[in-house]
Amino acid sequence: MARKRKSAAPVSDWSSYRARRRREIYTARRMQLITDLGGRCENCGAIEKLEFDHPHGREWTPRKHDVLTRLKKYAADYAAGNLRLLCSHCNKILLPDRDPWIDRETARELEVPF
Ligand SMILES: [Zn+2]
Repeated sequence: MARKRKSAAPVSDWSSYRARRRREIYTARRMQLITDLGGRCENCGAIEKLEFDHPHGREWTPRKHDVLTRLKKYAADYAAGNLRLLCSHCNKILLPDRDPWIDRETARELEVPF
């Protein structure tokens, strides 16, 4: 029998509920991590457009992980002393070789305000 349940409301409700929950969890954990890191750019003190940066580089590729896993990895890097906050400007200026848009991309994926 064909499974044609295009307007299956409970399913779409569930997925939007899950999406919303994931956004909430992501936002809360991200804010916690930003707070733990001092809440401002380590270089200029800016408090907006903050991005996570690995001063000693990282051994994993953010694109290969879902957003919540990325945050867990960021938290582990923080615990290991390999995470700092930079504003997008300083991140670009200080580290022209690295991709400064990783976390912004993550935020866009989850539609949370950056
Ligand atoms: Zn800065």
